[in-house]
Amino acid sequence: WDMFVLAFVERLFRPTYKKDDFVLGKKLGEGAFGVVYRVSWAKKPSSKEGDLVLKKATEYGAVEIWMNERVRRACSNSCADFLYGFLEKSSKKEAEYWLIWRFEGESTLADLIQSKEFPYNVESMILGEVQDLPKGLERENRIIQTILRQLLFALDGLHSTGIVHRDIKPQNVIFSEGSRTFKIIDLGAAADLRVGINYIPKEFLLDPRYAAPEQYIMSTQTPSAPSAPVAAALSPVLWQLNLPDRFDIYSTGLILLQMAFPSFRSDSGLIQFNRQLKRCDYDLIAWRKSVEPRANGDLRRGFELLDLDGGIGWELLTCMVRYKARQRVSAKAALAHPYFDKEGLLALSIMQ
Ligand code: ADP
Ligand code: MG
Repeated sequence: WDMFVLAFVERLFRPTYKKDDFVLGKKLGEGAFGVVYRVSWAKKPSSKEGDLVLKKATEYGAVEIWMNERVRRACSNSCADFLYGFLEKSSKKEAEYWLIWRFEGESTLADLIQSKEFPYNVESMILGEVQDLPKGLERENRIIQTILRQLLFALDGLHSTGIVHRDIKPQNVIFSEGSRTFKIIDLGAAADLRVGINYIPKEFLLDPRYAAPEQYIMSTQTPSAPSAPVAAALSPVLWQLNLPDRFDIYSTGLILLQMAFPSFRSDSGLIQFNRQLKRCDYDLIAWRKSVEPRANGDLRRGFELLDLDGGIGWELLTCMVRYKARQRVSAKAALAHPYFDKEGLLALSIMQ
């Protein structure tokens, strides 16, 4: 209850906004459940700076507002900076939920990995000016390590708060130009298991390209949402039993795969990989055995990158992309994996 009282008090003292405070700009995205625009302030109060992002959402917007409020209080660095959410009732149309964030930057990880320059295009974004180091696998590996570490750090924040994102993919990872780090966006499919919010499985929302093989986040024996107080008491146990956070870990493993192998960065490439892996019963080691003998240059280079430093990158990947959820590492355990020990130059320059 403390949490709810705190939330209520915080809400009372926070500024509220309405439709007329914002001027619509470019459309940034359109999904089945909402449209996203870049917007600016209609009247720029001196304390309000910079552009914003608006999502006009359907009925699921209520849950997304709830998730964003919770993230802002519990793990604000994990996700895009959320300002406010409200119900906009217009006379003609159905009611819409409006959600407002700070505009974090121009590029999602999806945009960045599609570039021929990847991962060097990210190096300059993270570090500003880049020293004139030789390009090569070692350097690429360092950049990929840094991206993955930031992503796992954000994910660990969400999971420690009790939130499973369920739609982790490069399109939902934004580069925050202000903090020069990657943050997670789009809590539209997220579930908060500790209080039972959005507990109803919404499999139809899941992106099949990045979804782990299990269909249900929670076991099928817990099909409906218990009322909130019951869920609050039960769900830490359910969390332990079902490890729903490992769903996000599988998706994150696929992101590591795409960063390491250029040929899996396109939709068709990723779909092809998924098909190959399924044929190997989701056994990544068997998959490697089946493709490596006839691997082209791109594929071979990806294996070479993951094999650096005694193969710790490959080892981590095999801990993330596994059929059984309970055999996948948690975000916290992944952050402690030796893959992240040797970050050398990049880690040093970030600390300075
Ligand atoms: P959708 O439900 O359409 O997937 P998202 O929340 O993922 O909605 O937002 C759609 C797109 O809008 C993102 O892929 C990203 O390009 C952009 N976007 C969303 N939030 C922000 C933000 N805070 N800052 C900058 N761009 C954003
Ligand atoms: Mg999205």
